[in-house]
Amino acid sequence: MHYLDIESVSSLQTILANLTGFSLALYGEKREVLLPPVNENKLLSVVKASSHGSGEYDDFIRENIERAHRRNDVSIVKGPAGQYHFFIPLRVEDSVYTLVGGGVYLSEEDRRIFHASDREYHGLSPSQLKSVCSGIRISNYSDIQDACRNIRSIFYLMLKAHYRSATNEKKHRILKTSLGLMSDVSLGRQPDEVFTVLIDLILFLFNAESVSVMVRSNDIFLPRKTTGRFKDQLQAVPFRMTGIVSMTVEQKRACYTEDFAALLKLGLPEDVSSVHLFPVLAENSVVGIVNIVNSFIREEDAEIIFEICRLSGFLFRLVELTTMYKRYLKEIDALNTAAKRLIPVKEPDMLYETILESSVHLAGAEKGSLMLVEDDASCLTVKAAKGIHKRLQSEIRIMEGEGVAGWVLREGMPLIVEDIRKNEWGFTERSKYRTSSFISIPLKIGEKTIGVLNISDKLTGEVFSEEDFLLLRSFASYASIALERSNYYSLAGQLKELSITDSLTGLFNRRYFEERFFEEIHRSERHSLSFSLAMLDIDDFKLFNDSEGHLAGDEVLKYIANMAKECLRVSDVIARFGGEEFTIIMPQTEKDEALLVAERIRNSIKENFPQAWNLFPRSALTVSIGIATFPHDGKDRRELIRYADKALYRAKMEGKDRTVLWTTQEAPMPSSQNPRNSSIS
Ligand code: GH3
Ligand code: MG
Ligand code: MG
Repeated sequence: MHYLDIESVSSLQTILANLTGFSLALYGEKREVLLPPVNENKLLSVVKASSHGSGEYDDFIRENIERAHRRNDVSIVKGPAGQYHFFIPLRVEDSVYTLVGGGVYLSEEDRRIFHASDREYHGLSPSQLKSVCSGIRISNYSDIQDACRNIRSIFYLMLKAHYRSATNEKKHRILKTSLGLMSDVSLGRQPDEVFTVLIDLILFLFNAESVSVMVRSNDIFLPRKTTGRFKDQLQAVPFRMTGIVSMTVEQKRACYTEDFAALLKLGLPEDVSSVHLFPVLAENSVVGIVNIVNSFIREEDAEIIFEICRLSGFLFRLVELTTMYKRYLKEIDALNTAAKRLIPVKEPDMLYETILESSVHLAGAEKGSLMLVEDDASCLTVKAAKGIHKRLQSEIRIMEGEGVAGWVLREGMPLIVEDIRKNEWGFTERSKYRTSSFISIPLKIGEKTIGVLNISDKLTGEVFSEEDFLLLRSFASYASIALERSNYYSLAGQLKELSITDSLTGLFNRRYFEERFFEEIHRSERHSLSFSLAMLDIDDFKLFNDSEGHLAGDEVLKYIANMAKECLRVSDVIARFGGEEFTIIMPQTEKDEALLVAERIRNSIKENFPQAWNLFPRSALTVSIGIATFPHDGKDRRELIRYADKALYRAKMEGKDRTVLWTTQEAPMPSSQNPRNSSIS
């Protein structure tokens, strides 16, 4: 039996949670909570405390801890409230632990979906939601992976040291001290401070004569910070990718040399008699090297230094990102303010003016124009302009492909030009602009370009920056939505259709499905009606794609969409849920009737499939369908989708080419309708 010193592990937990910015909790052998989460965001806490939330969260945690241990690997999974969590299994001697962390969104979209649909499920009022949403973090997958790696190795080291604690007490202490010091490098500081702390720490803890940290730039390592006796000399010596340097990079481990020739080759001063090189890792590649000069380092200390260097690489990136993120936040603020201005504007002319004003303001520009596509589609007219003569404005017509705006219209791609005079785009020079840099962005609804936004002449006289460009691109998508909503375009009708249909199959898209689904639940609730949800997935579609190619695969998707549509009743709504999955909402439909409809679709797809299409390795094109029914199987969006999906999974497990109705009983209801043993056709 091992006794875990909870207190010291807990301080490590706090440090790591603060360092990485993720929440962190430790679970024990029996899936019990050893250390409750540190750094958890408010939203998740509230969700966990809600009547649905806690049970769901517990299940989620338990299932994924099991899974992580079964696979014996880290897993990153989307959990309650749409937030991502990671599960790190740890085995030390014969004890089993799991670190569970995360609690971040991977995209704005996930966050929005939660806000739009799950809020009510968890009983949150809009004002509550607002107050718990501060501090919600949006991260990306590789950051989480990176954090997992760091957290895992440091925890391991700590736990291992802990088990050998009698002999390793010093190591334990050093590690804790180092981490504590590093966590003081708060995120508000300059990125380089991470390295300053790192080298001072090594100098002090390991009695080195001199330490330097070098940052990689392609195949060369440039000194960034140096300290100790050789401070100035080391500052002057970059490392090239040879000998011991390339060994450190390739093997991603610490390397040591005291060989005179090797040292000379590095270009180090004569008094240097040995170097230890440690890799600084970020996203698992070597981004820097820590060079420790004239120091005797024991193996167990080397292990600690290695981890500290690795952690500092991660931290450096984190601080860098935070700095960037802060700037970005400021911009987002400006963007939101601008986007909000668009909402109440209904009158088209006003809207055009507002869009243009905001864009010009966001980019700090002097001139600009908003052009929209005329009904007959291949030419642009100016709807609003700043800095262009009014008369001229009403007369300008730009054909597709003509000039910059015409190019953007044709290609549907945004353009930032630093200097029009360089003429690299083949546009004729336009002397009417004071400065020669400008931005041109397509306004799009779905795949269709409905207009072009042009911004030129930065007030400062400088060229437009990448940030201006990104900011305007984001704003343009808000502007497109506003235009789409405005009277002008709702009259056009056909454009609205574009934003709710899937371009390949012509079916409704996911976004529309979510809206309709939500409405259907409310409607059925209000009037105490049932409805069914079916999920359809093509069998072995990957194989078909692999043998026939993606284009043929796309044809199959279209074919299935058409077949399914033909079999549905007018009130049914079919949507492309994603990839090769389709969802069907069947209002006022009980299980048995839903089964009939689903079977009609399944059979019709199989029977009408053109034989000309090679079907290796199956003899027919088949689909599997899962069905869940409201309110019997689930009373909200999540449950229904989950159970329809589980039924679909059962259909796959039982051999595919069938429909399965969800049932909570142990044995699935005998609803599977493979024609070989079915009486329904
Ligand atoms: P299963 O019977 O278990 O459903 O097997 P599967 O191969 O159909 O399922 P899986 O989910 O493994 O693979 C789905 C494949 O669908 C992957 C991809 O090749 C294909 N796919 C997804 N979206 C599209 C698309 O838009 N066009 C084409 N051509 N293929 C797609
Ligand atoms: Mg699939
Ligand atoms: Mg499939």
